[in-house]
Amino acid sequence: MAEPGEKLVHVGIDDTDSPLGMCTTYVSSILMLELMKRGCSLADFPYLVRLNPNIPFKTRGNGAVSLHLRCEMGAEEVAGVVERVLEAYSERHAKTDPTAVVVQGDVGELRSVYRRALVELLAPSQVEKALRGARAMVLGGRKGRGVVGAAASIGAYELDVFTYELLLYVPPGSAKPPQAEEGVVELDRLLRPLTFANVDYGASRVLATPRGPDPVLAGIRSANPLVLSSIARRLAESWGASLAVIFKTNQATGAHLSKVKPVGELRPYDSAVVRGLVVAPPAELRGGHVALKVGDSTGTVTCMFYRETGLQRVAKLLREGDRVEVGGGVVPRSRGLTLNAEYVRVLDAPPLSKLENPRCPLCGKRMKSLGKRGGFKCPACGYRDPALGKVEVRVPRFLEPGLYLQRPLAYRHLSPPAEAMGVEPVRAPPLPSLVVWPPPRS
Ligand code: ATP
Repeated sequence: MAEPGEKLVHVGIDDTDSPLGMCTTYVSSILMLELMKRGCSLADFPYLVRLNPNIPFKTRGNGAVSLHLRCEMGAEEVAGVVERVLEAYSERHAKTDPTAVVVQGDVGELRSVYRRALVELLAPSQVEKALRGARAMVLGGRKGRGVVGAAASIGAYELDVFTYELLLYVPPGSAKPPQAEEGVVELDRLLRPLTFANVDYGASRVLATPRGPDPVLAGIRSANPLVLSSIARRLAESWGASLAVIFKTNQATGAHLSKVKPVGELRPYDSAVVRGLVVAPPAELRGGHVALKVGDSTGTVTCMFYRETGLQRVAKLLREGDRVEVGGGVVPRSRGLTLNAEYVRVLDAPPLSKLENPRCPLCGKRMKSLGKRGGFKCPACGYRDPALGKVEVRVPRFLEPGLYLQRPLAYRHLSPPAEAMGVEPVRAPPLPSLVVWPPPRS
């Protein structure tokens, strides 16, 4: 709640970066410092909000940022500061369209914009009504799409399922010091599962140090903001970062794959979960990928298990009649929609059976059929029995029911990593003393 005279102001930001540089989290951190310098305080951590990972026009991880502040100044004055910071820090690139949304008070219908933007493809026109209802100011967004992410990131307030990420930055355009990569491995060994998704040991890759042209030196993910708060300054100093900020985030929560959708209601670019029966044997494709048809009472869809995910090994073992749940992204293809699997849950894999010739009751050898006349003959001892028939034998499955996740290298930001499953995030009111380092100077 805001104190008397203070207003609760939300700012959502998107599309300030391009494939060539910058990062919306960095621009938003600068904005947060500017607003704190002008007397605003944090009503919550800054939010790093990941949206539908399956939309076709994202640059990288479909992330947007929102700030939630208590300010003496009103939304219009805040909007003035936002405009100046966006102008000074955003990338200038044909694909970049810096957009901010400013809302004072309740975020209203923007909540449902967030929920939909997590799982669907939304047109900017589909968020207009909610923006009007929340009396939102929209800044920038001339090409029109950034408004979806900016509006949805505000609607994420207050996140009820979340984790945290400490982002460490170097000044834009400067080289990234090399010590962070080794430091991440050491940190991971010390703190797992308090921090997670830092390293893919199977692929010998550090995941927490992006190599792109953006100013992010490292991102350390955790369920515990107090752990991040206590290591932020030391890491920044020893790894050569100039700025460290702790974000609250929907990353690693699986929020985009939390509802089962009937197959007949799947739409292009949805993130969706389907539950049904395997209706045809798995087809192995060139490149080692596997296609599997799954159906429910409303239709069937081809689920694709790409080799990169590691899930193709599970898909290969599935058989007609098995009951599965598949979560992933819906992609339109010339032959209809496919669901690209991010995880598969084997719900029921009943034992299989096949018919075999019987064994000889005298010597134990496998018998041979006597043909149309019926019955079987033993090729070893010559025993014949015209009344014998084939016998049903059970085929072992080597497939345990349960949840199968993709390899860490294929994770989406929203995917829950195996090592963090069951780790309950710490709810941390009041905010830890260090959310941003160095602290703002007024
Ligand atoms: P980065 O993660 O580096 O910030 P990005 O992957 O987030 O990059 P953007 O450049 O932000 O990519 O592009 C995503 C665009 O799609 C943004 O304009 C965002 O507002 C918009 N968007 C996000 N979610 C949806 C959605 N569900 N439907 C329609 N548009 C969306």
